[in-house]
Amino acid sequence: MNYATIKWTDIANGEGVRISLFVSGCTHHCKNCFNQIAWDFNYGLPFDEQIQEKIIRELSSDYIAGISLLGGEPLEPENQIALLPFLTKVRALYPNKTIWCYTGFTLDEESGALKEIEKNTPQIHKLISMFDVLVDGAYVDELKDIRLKFRGSSNQRLIDVQKTLQNGRMVLYLE
Ligand code: SF4
Repeated sequence: MNYATIKWTDIANGEGVRISLFVSGCTHHCKNCFNQIAWDFNYGLPFDEQIQEKIIRELSSDYIAGISLLGGEPLEPENQIALLPFLTKVRALYPNKTIWCYTGFTLDEESGALKEIEKNTPQIHKLISMFDVLVDGAYVDELKDIRLKFRGSSNQRLIDVQKTLQNGRMVLYLE
């Protein structure tokens, strides 16, 4: 997996001050996407051990609330496979930091996987179970609303992943 950019102190993409990792590769191609350059899976730099270790080091700061994954599309199958071992480490080292993920796919609350079943890898359940908040749904330019918190268009949902998986029904984190 490649990544397009990293914001080390981001307050726009989740609660608190966060590290935001923008991965490369996205097949949604939403109209007026904010980050078209990251559609290309080969854009940016390799998400290698060195950058993973740097993120893990930076996450130790008290003022960092957690990490947000954006793109590109973090849940493209090849990106799911790359992110799982990294997030497993983050979870083990920092159980009290939060993990937010932005996806253009849709969560199926009953199965705990993506509704777009062809995009689910065998790792998808484990990966989604590591998220605190999943912002799902592709960006729809006609539904753009700048008053919305932490998302671009009104079709996108801020899902409380842990409560949703426990209950087997959709629980929103924020309306
Ligand atoms: S899912 Fe995100 S990165 Fe992909 S095209 Fe839509 S807005 Fe752009």
